[in-house]
Amino acid sequence: ILKVSNLNIAFGRYEAVRNVALHIDPGETLAVVGESGSGKSVTATAVMGLLPAREISINGSIVLDGQEVLGAPESVLREMRGKVASMVFQEPMMSLNPVLRVGTQIKEMLRQHRPLSDAQARQEGIRLFDRVRIPDAQRRFDDYPHMFSGGMRQRIMIAIALACSPKLLIADEPTTALDVTIQAQILDLLNEVQRDSGTAILFITHDMGVVANMADRVMVMQQGMTVETGSVREIFEHPREDYTRMLIEAVP
Ligand code: ATP
Ligand code: MG
Repeated sequence: ILKVSNLNIAFGRYEAVRNVALHIDPGETLAVVGESGSGKSVTATAVMGLLPAREISINGSIVLDGQEVLGAPESVLREMRGKVASMVFQEPMMSLNPVLRVGTQIKEMLRQHRPLSDAQARQEGIRLFDRVRIPDAQRRFDDYPHMFSGGMRQRIMIAIALACSPKLLIADEPTTALDVTIQAQILDLLNEVQRDSGTAILFITHDMGVVANMADRVMVMQQGMTVETGSVREIFEHPREDYTRMLIEAVP
């Protein structure tokens, strides 16, 4: 579903991503792990076609569901976003608009790719909120983002990301700001989505601890480069690099 090769991204003279390659098969979960600033979010944003090539030097290849993302016209990218790949951003403010009711936001997403009436979109939206276990979804559909807890907002963002049944879901550190029990619930939810819908997941985290029960494969990044890639088992049992070993040892 996704194949990235020779990806280089520079902001001015600063090279944020250097020669990164990765692939994700349909239905597979790849965890990208690395410390702060290692280029995880920049890579994910590029996959979504959200880096303006005019201002940023970006080259290599990103093939998403058979379509090259780099250099693709905005109309093509817009068509792919939500339907082919959807992203839950690290910053909640990038996923939810604070001045729009959450129900309006999910309805908009649904109607972007499907000809639904307002009532149909509402019904489908409530079903999605139920699916991510927003309690009392029917009643809370017209609330504003700030009226939900952080964990619930995260669920809403996942619901919106799932609205158009994407083939690939990118989850950028979806649990860092949340307490441990909520973190576990969100991870369970993502596991469930994958099991039930066969959605491929690109899961970004700096916590090697969550990788073991989330991912099929792991890619470790450091300073914009791939340090190593392998199955979860290979990486945990035989890490080749000191840096990977350090990440594993940091798991409590
Ligand atoms: P974290 O775990 O903290 O989220 P990350 O691995 O996601 O880290 P990125 O957000 O991908 O890190 O950033 C990689 C590097 O690129 C950082 O040094 C960051 O400052 C830089 N960077 C990201 N976006 C921009 C931008 N728009 N302009 C300039 N530099 C940027
Ligand atoms: Mg990040």
